[in-house]
Amino acid sequence: MSSAVAATKRAAAAVARVPPPMAMLAELTHRCPLACPYCSNPIALTPGEEELSTEEWIDVFRQAAALGVLHLHLSGGEPAARRDLVELTRAAVALGLYTNLITSGVGLTEARINDLTAAGLDHVQLSIQGVSAESADRIGGYKGGYQRKMAVANWVVGAGIPLTVNAVCHRQNMGEIDAMIALAIRLGARRVEIATVQFHGWAERNKAALLPTREQVEAATRTVAAAREKYQGTLVIDYVPADYYSQYPKACMGGWGRVGLNVTPSGRVLPCHAAETIPRLTFKTVRDGALSEIWYASDAFNAYRGEAWMPELCRSCERKHVDFGGCRCQAMALAGDASTTDPVCIRSPLRERLTRDTDQLTAMSSATLRYRGR
Ligand code: SF4
Ligand code: SF4
Repeated sequence: MSSAVAATKRAAAAVARVPPPMAMLAELTHRCPLACPYCSNPIALTPGEEELSTEEWIDVFRQAAALGVLHLHLSGGEPAARRDLVELTRAAVALGLYTNLITSGVGLTEARINDLTAAGLDHVQLSIQGVSAESADRIGGYKGGYQRKMAVANWVVGAGIPLTVNAVCHRQNMGEIDAMIALAIRLGARRVEIATVQFHGWAERNKAALLPTREQVEAATRTVAAAREKYQGTLVIDYVPADYYSQYPKACMGGWGRVGLNVTPSGRVLPCHAAETIPRLTFKTVRDGALSEIWYASDAFNAYRGEAWMPELCRSCERKHVDFGGCRCQAMALAGDASTTDPVCIRSPLRERLTRDTDQLTAMSSATLRYRGR
């Protein structure tokens, strides 16, 4: 058998074992009134006139439900910037999808929350940028944002919709984790998600100002452990630690093309939020073909499925089914090669360099924040 035929057979066998996606992140728009310096959206944002129409989004939801998607995350940008948010939610609920709105809160009114409740919205994730108006509005680049978030949390909880508070932590607010957890409790949240900044999009440009120090990360781990004990049964605390200080990489997206997919405002279908940073891949849009065909058969989704693509280091490693070789976009960003072992891994030949670079960056004390363009 020629090697090309064998490779084709291997690829076909791998595709045959691909399960359907469980979750879809619908980035309804890139428009957003905030300007967070840690925003992971692309530097070149999709203009409003290129966004999918209401009918196109509903058709994408229909295809997703037929494909097996259970959870639909309505995100952005700021999804409330879409005038049809209630209509989209209602359509998704009617298709049997569990709907989760991921929002900064800006653009939501009490009347709109009530309409979303009536439409059947299942869950809200509200982002906070800090624990006071001063810190939150400074990081979010939007005056008055904090007050609006407090009001939105109140309306959401009052409407009986389960609330999760999302907080991205970084060098500028890492000392506030305790206070973020306390704020989540005051707001009536059932869950708080504290995620250390990931360096994609605008965050990459602000790395020197946002990368937490080793001491901050160690203190944060202790804070989260103590809070989990203290608030057991009251609040679920999810914590995504800083992987630059971890021994092993995270299983990004639960593995490439294994669990979920993203659809961008203009309909490009991606295996993960940052996948467009990998230049060798081209991504189809829902205007080019069916979602199921893109999930099962497109080159981009099959590029890093299974083990055939893995470097020997990962292929022969006992953790390959735990972390799948780490994050492809991080390998691209740090090593310039998306097919290599994630440089965060202690077994990677690039790990030492990453540790050196991290120490150098965190030693720079006065880097200025560059706010996301709107
Ligand atoms: S991270 Fe901030 S700027 Fe980016 S979409 Fe979310 S709220 Fe808007
Ligand atoms: S060598 Fe590869 S599979 Fe093994 S732990 Fe490191 S990244 Fe994961």
